Amino acid sequence: MKFSQLGQRLAAGSGIELLMDDLGHALSGKGPAMHMLGGGNPAHIPEMEEVWARRMQELVNDAPSLRRTLAIYDPPRGNPRCIAALADLLNREFGWPVTAENIAVTPGGQTAFFFLFNLFSGPAEDGTLGKILFPITPEYIGYANQSLTEGGLVGRQPLIIKTGPHRFRYQIDFDALALGPDVRAMCISCPTNPSGNVLAPAEMRRLADVASKHHIPLIIDNAYGAPFPGILFAESLPIWSPETIHVMSLSKFGLPGTRTAFVVGPPHVASAVSSMMAVTGLANGNFGQSIVCPLMESGEIVRLSREVVGPYYRAKRDKALAAIAEFFPEDRPYFLHEPDGAMFLWLWLPGARITSRELYDRLKARGVLVVPGEYFFFGLSEANTDHHRHECVRISFAMDEDDARAGIRIIGEEIAKAWD
Ligand code: PLP
Repeated sequence: MKFSQLGQRLAAGSGIELLMDDLGHALSGKGPAMHMLGGGNPAHIPEMEEVWARRMQELVNDAPSLRRTLAIYDPPRGNPRCIAALADLLNREFGWPVTAENIAVTPGGQTAFFFLFNLFSGPAEDGTLGKILFPITPEYIGYANQSLTEGGLVGRQPLIIKTGPHRFRYQIDFDALALGPDVRAMCISCPTNPSGNVLAPAEMRRLADVASKHHIPLIIDNAYGAPFPGILFAESLPIWSPETIHVMSLSKFGLPGTRTAFVVGPPHVASAVSSMMAVTGLANGNFGQSIVCPLMESGEIVRLSREVVGPYYRAKRDKALAAIAEFFPEDRPYFLHEPDGAMFLWLWLPGARITSRELYDRLKARGVLVVPGEYFFFGLSEANTDHHRHECVRISFAMDEDDARAGIRIIGEEIAKAWD
């Protein structure tokens, strides 16, 4: 058996896959009890679980809807009623002039990015090699390896602004964006996984202007953003222009198992995504759309995001920050990215004598799992990032509060020794 080059590339695995395997084994019960501060699974929020149970019951009691959900292929673009409901919602909430023509459903955000990145990166008809540019690196690890073309994803280093004794934030270095003709799209997750960064409205507007000026799309990953799931603790600008493409997923709203996301962009992009869906998967799964369609029509999806999901994670974040204030060594130069959204704290240890990978190993030996930061710098060459890529770890606060507190106490003890 001989795999093709592309087959080998796709099947070769990735750094993070190895790590996830490591996490899986770590959870197998051997060694000390694990405090899982590594994963990206959304929390199980009791009020949301009640909503899912209610919606499932309603579906079971409604024979035509049940049949639609289980026994009928939707068109590749997605369920027309659900797409119309989302278009109306975006009109009502943000005043965006979108219709069903602007929207296509995909099996989760991950697949949406696979489609979009390969729609824009790679060899073009004129022989040039198109690239996707990430204006701020570190970025979501799941993007790495998604371009079928080697070198199709490139990142830029951000400015690092210290905002307090133990706080910092990344900002786009507009002077260093250097958009050559090979850049065919820009992409940013907002709120960002891993850093929790939310672009300030002026920064978002300026980025959208740069995209417009260069006639390239700006892909905005709304996995944690508005209008759902709304895991946002800072002001954000839900921007719409002929160049913006939003990806909105149901996963962090609490439904990762349904594998449902929506691409909202120019009609020709939505149409291309729908064609790619037909080729690769024929049609989408119907469950997620069936569950949320009435919630979109009534607007309940926005209310739940604002009143339940967002506040739930905000409370978790605040407890995690309180534990950090209690357990982290005040006299050590540790920095946390301003936690504006998502479910992570991004810890930077400038000048530490151990790498984030060594810190990960030490923490794992003590039963705490985090994610070493180096995996999030996939768009930059090693030479480009000096020490920063080896000085950061991602800590999730989505899990049980006692676990988070116990884990943060141990991280505090380990980072107290990190500069020795
Ligand atoms: N984008 C970001 C920033 C994420 O964190 C994730 C998942 O963790 C995804 C996209 C993909 O999520 P899904 O494929 O479940 O929609």
